[in-house]
Amino acid sequence: MTEVFTGAFTQQEPIPEEGIEAALRVMRSGRLHRYNTVGDDPGETALLEQEFAAAMGVEYALAVASGGYALATALRAVGIKPGDRVLTNAFTLAPVPGAIAAVGAVPVFVGVTENLVIDLDDLAAKADQADVLMLSHMRGHLCDMDRLLKICRAANVIVIEDCAHTMGARWNGRLSGTDGVIGCYSTQTYKHMNSGEGGLLITNDAQVMARAVMLSGSYMLYGRHLAAPDPAVFEAVKYDTPNISGRMDNLRAAILRPQLRDLAQQCDRWNARYQVVEDGLRNTPGLTVIDRPKAEYYVGSSIQFLLLDWSEQAVQQVLSRCAARGVDLKWFGGAEPTGFTSRYDSWRYAPSDAMPATDRVLKGIVDMRLPLTFSESDCALIARIIRAEVGAVWQAG
Ligand SMILES: *Cc1c(COP(=O)(O)O)cnc(C)c1O
Repeated sequence: MTEVFTGAFTQQEPIPEEGIEAALRVMRSGRLHRYNTVGDDPGETALLEQEFAAAMGVEYALAVASGGYALATALRAVGIKPGDRVLTNAFTLAPVPGAIAAVGAVPVFVGVTENLVIDLDDLAAKADQADVLMLSHMRGHLCDMDRLLKICRAANVIVIEDCAHTMGARWNGRLSGTDGVIGCYSTQTYKHMNSGEGGLLITNDAQVMARAVMLSGSYMLYGRHLAAPDPAVFEAVKYDTPNISGRMDNLRAAILRPQLRDLAQQCDRWNARYQVVEDGLRNTPGLTVIDRPKAEYYVGSSIQFLLLDWSEQAVQQVLSRCAARGVDLKWFGGAEPTGFTSRYDSWRYAPSDAMPATDRVLKGIVDMRLPLTFSESDCALIARIIRAEVGAVWQAG
């Protein structure tokens, strides 16, 4: 009998009841705008910021409209101007080069290794080309952050971290997003907390946060924030920082606060599922499992493997054979961007030099979401299907 999987790879868990009740309270009050509060009620958004800063162990946090907005705001807050160059990963998703383009800056792509992290040798070679690195921890893979920080410190490169896939992850015990000057997160439905759309930005730099708060559209109401610097810090920036509206609202914040309390537990649940798939894929001929370093605590909300040096036709066969059995795989090697995938060279607004070693890796990356609605036995079944179909195509080839 041929096994078929019938779960939905796009199905996340429901919002916790506590979040639904809090959202109803906000809607019944009519006070959805973050600054539309009465008396000494700080409002859900300010409370979320305070709780997120505490959870990440940083001084300051800002909630915004999306992860992409957080990235563009981070670039503006560190002083990136139109025409500046910004180092960033070649293995990435569209909103990252998009955020760089949004501020009129120009991406300089850095390669990817077979472990799916930024190529630190390539970074060291290109570090003199820009003052800022927008480091995307793509698909949750953390590079050797200690070495990365050394390279960037030596070259005076400011690090902004895109933690859309690493909220809750750690390198050598340090939470992802706390090594760079700024850490950015997304709370869009597919990420680790779900408010439909949304983003968060953290930093320990008072000036940077004052600018980010003004940029997000605080008007002169920044004094109402609970995780922003002292109003005195705003004096130096308030007339020079444009309002580029991108606030979060109290409804989304209400939905997120209970999810933040559950985050660590959710990360462990993702990892239990990841482990089952990884174990099931190990030692499949032709398939390379991505070994995770000891220093990394990852969040396995998706899993990747490599079909390295396979022909396009063979990869396509694996994808369609798995799809026929209900297993939805994404391929980052496709020449054309499809769905959420894209390649650095898809973007004609961001010309790039040829990167053969990176292209070889990208051509082989197969990606799969692991929503928490899947059980561990679902994950075992999925791994059996992939193993069988990769095996069938490998043997035929
Ligand atoms: C989702 C995502 C973003 C952007 O987040 P949005 O909230 O969708 O704007 C940025 N970087 C990566 C790697 C992402 O996956």
